[in-house]
Amino acid sequence: MGQRTVRTYTGSCHCGAVRFQIESDFPELTTCDCSICRRKNALMVKVHESRFKLLAGEESLTLYQFHTHTARHYFCRTCGIYPFHRKRLAPESYGINVLCLDDFDPAGIPVRMTVGAGLP
Ligand SMILES: [Zn+2]
Repeated sequence: MGQRTVRTYTGSCHCGAVRFQIESDFPELTTCDCSICRRKNALMVKVHESRFKLLAGEESLTLYQFHTHTARHYFCRTCGIYPFHRKRLAPESYGINVLCLDDFDPAGIPVRMTVGAGLP
């Protein structure tokens, strides 16, 4: 497998109200065992905020916060899909739900299991 190149992807929630765009070379995907990710069964990629653009649907996003109230978990108020969140340990970055990306194939990208459950 060669070096992956940086590509631009668009993504959306299920009903299409929330649309966004990211750039990434997808060095890895992550899952997380924290209380919310476990329930979402999310497969994520981390992108810096400079590589994230919300194209539409700001008014459709509902913010959910818990525990330390640092991470900002967004989901669509209409269809309930989680498209991305602001990370707690890297607040300048977004965790993107890659399964919301258009025409994205996760095959061949290493998946790392991150541990969120034990965080204080
Ligand atoms: Zn939606």
